Amino acid sequence: MTLDIVTIFPAMIEQPLAAGIIGRAIERGTLDVKVRDLRDFTTDRHRVVDDEPYGGGPGMVLKPDPIFRALDAIEAERGRPLTVILTSPQGARFTQAVAQRLSGAEHVVLLCGRYEGFDDRVRERVTEELSIGDYVLTGGELPALVMLDAIARFVPGVVGDEQSVAEDSFSRGLLDFPQYTRPPEIAGAAERPLKVPDVLLSGNHAEIRRWRKREALSRTLTRRPDLLDGAVLDEEEAALLRELKGARDGRD
Ligand code: SAM
Repeated sequence: MTLDIVTIFPAMIEQPLAAGIIGRAIERGTLDVKVRDLRDFTTDRHRVVDDEPYGGGPGMVLKPDPIFRALDAIEAERGRPLTVILTSPQGARFTQAVAQRLSGAEHVVLLCGRYEGFDDRVRERVTEELSIGDYVLTGGELPALVMLDAIARFVPGVVGDEQSVAEDSFSRGLLDFPQYTRPPEIAGAAERPLKVPDVLLSGNHAEIRRWRKREALSRTLTRRPDLLDGAVLDEEEAALLRELKGARDGRD
């Protein structure tokens, strides 16, 4: 998969991309990521990318022409990108489902805003405007990294075990079940022993599978019941959910 990120702070993107699973995928060539410095697409001596807002008001606005030139250069080098994403707190919510859909695109361009954001005419060249949540950050670099990371996990060959991606929280509309590793017992607060649930040490794979389903459903019901409306459940899970809801109603 090919990704281009346009930013005025390339170092904010390049360093995190060099580490971990994403760094290895780039090294192997599974992901072809280029970070483009927006200032390289200015034409003036001072490499100015922003200007005052028409109509007055605080802050500066990112000029449209360097962004258009950056997109033209990317197209000339790579061919027409089908997906140009504007990072914006005003965009549609970026979710696991959006990440999965975008992982099917051959080429994605991510535009990182700064200051008061982009001159609105930039939207002319944008296919999607996406927000990572209802809060405002100082720039689009962190959102672009978040999106790239979540998208890349769905690209075949990026995460070693694709099953783990399929089982992650949100992938089926459920939160993930709790995980434990060695040691089987450790002292918690006031020396109270914190034990791994017996079932996970039992070696009984059918019981473990059922326990994990139950825990995933129970966590989702407690923490994010809104997700259950869109969850795809098998018969066993549907029965477990009825049981959990029944037990909860009994307690109320
Ligand atoms: N004045 C803009 C508004 O209220 O919509 C906010 C601009 S923000 C300070 C600067 C840049 O950070 C935005 O252009 C966008 O690229 C990025 N950004 C900030 N919060 C974001 C979010 N929640 N999701 C995605 N991008 C965000």
